[in-house]
Amino acid sequence: MAGYDGREVNEHGADQIRRLVVVSNRLPVVLSKSAGGWRSEPGSGGLVTAIAPVLRNRGGLWIGWPGTAGREDLSGALDRATRDVGYSLVPVSLDKEEVDQYYRGFSNEIIWPLFHDLQTKCNFDPLYWDTYREVNRRFAEVTRDHTAPHDFIWVHDYHLMLTAQNLRALGTEARLGFFLHIPFPPLDIFVKLPWRREILRALLSYDLVGFQTLRDRRNFVQCLIALLPGTSVRGRGQVCQIESGERAIRSGAFPISIDSRQFESDSASHDVAESAWHIHENLPDRQIILGVDRMDYTKGITDRLRAFRRLLERHPEHRDEVTLVQVVVPSRRGIPGYESLKIEIEGLVGEINGQLTGPSGKVPIHYIYRALERTELLGYYRASEVALVTPLKDGMNLVAKEYCACSLEENGVLILSEFAGAAAELQRGALMVNPYDIAGVADALHKAVTMRPDERHRRMHQLRQSIKQHDIFWWVDSFLRASIERDLSSFPVVEDYVPGRRPAV
Ligand code: UDP
Repeated sequence: MAGYDGREVNEHGADQIRRLVVVSNRLPVVLSKSAGGWRSEPGSGGLVTAIAPVLRNRGGLWIGWPGTAGREDLSGALDRATRDVGYSLVPVSLDKEEVDQYYRGFSNEIIWPLFHDLQTKCNFDPLYWDTYREVNRRFAEVTRDHTAPHDFIWVHDYHLMLTAQNLRALGTEARLGFFLHIPFPPLDIFVKLPWRREILRALLSYDLVGFQTLRDRRNFVQCLIALLPGTSVRGRGQVCQIESGERAIRSGAFPISIDSRQFESDSASHDVAESAWHIHENLPDRQIILGVDRMDYTKGITDRLRAFRRLLERHPEHRDEVTLVQVVVPSRRGIPGYESLKIEIEGLVGEINGQLTGPSGKVPIHYIYRALERTELLGYYRASEVALVTPLKDGMNLVAKEYCACSLEENGVLILSEFAGAAAELQRGALMVNPYDIAGVADALHKAVTMRPDERHRRMHQLRQSIKQHDIFWWVDSFLRASIERDLSSFPVVEDYVPGRRPAV
């Protein structure tokens, strides 16, 4: 395949890496218990698709929690899964208390809300921190036992920020990379974290720290400079060099993406076309505005519903012309805040439908609370005239990219939050909105549903070009290259986005 700079690269730029070891909170398999014992199914998703060939071709391995609490014997299921996927799967076992405190507690009640700028939702329980440290040490021990000095160890996400520091303490000499899938907050917010210096120092134990956007990297650098005096930075391109105390590391912006060609070909299939046809058949003569989100307070679902209500109040002519289909995928049940959000969303949907359903009996909002099969999801992508993607803050937002990849006729309109990581790359083709500005989002909706076909086409064409050029294989390639390439100037400057500033056309 072609690298992002146009040259041919093998195995996604991994040619100089002997063996890749991926470490993430979850293993890329779904385990379920049946009468005959544990069964496993390979996980799906862009990350697995892109990394799997590199792992397979170099005898690599993936280390992670299998998703079951307790010390169950999963060896048979994991051996079978290893044979199926073609690379080794190594489990890190966690008991129920560890899952509660490290995963639900520290990761999802502290780091998740704080790094999405929602510090009022944080529960800074010191017990969570103790267990987070212990579990990160456990991940490091398992990783040390399965790796050699020439491996490249690639650790993923906010659950494992301390793993490299523990690995170094255990004597690991291998190169260590880290990619943060969620945003990194600005200094004013990060300093609220009681363990702010410990986390920064631990991140400096990696050799390469990757973020989704330049803004996240800027925030990280700003925190280092403020909290660890003596830190200096060289380079302003995609990858820069950071020196702090004894450590000299690299840091870069690597916007994650999707397997856009796969989405394009799947959405061209007969099944997806039929699903899209059925969806529109049931909503004749209406434009569909689509929202697809996990149930999460970062996704801005309630503000979005209010913006849709305002559209219909301000423009009654649209009442018989548009329908909002809002898909919400159940997520993180049992974590405080998620249950009350569900109640709030469902109350608002009922209120708006009650208020604005006309004599035709057509309800303005179709609300779906479940995970969709892939064919159905792609059917909705293809059938919808507008995608409304308005997170309050998001690491990237893959739904935005998937919608564009599936817009085969290039006639969909993307409305995108300024606070999604995807804003940097998609700012030119999308209608950019501030998700807190309900009137502004309603205006963007009006603009989208009345947009002329030639403008729709021009914008969507631009979006699709950008997504095709920077797909998930480009992402893996550029991260791995950034860990080995000598000359950092060979990395181009990636697109930046400053909320409120008009994008260059
Ligand atoms: N998705 C899914 N089933 C659904 C709806 C969505 O698997 O019913 C997938 C969707 O294709 C996308 C992911 O969930 O890949 C959501 O990713 P995104 O980056 O938008 O948000 P996240 O949930 O990671 O915060």
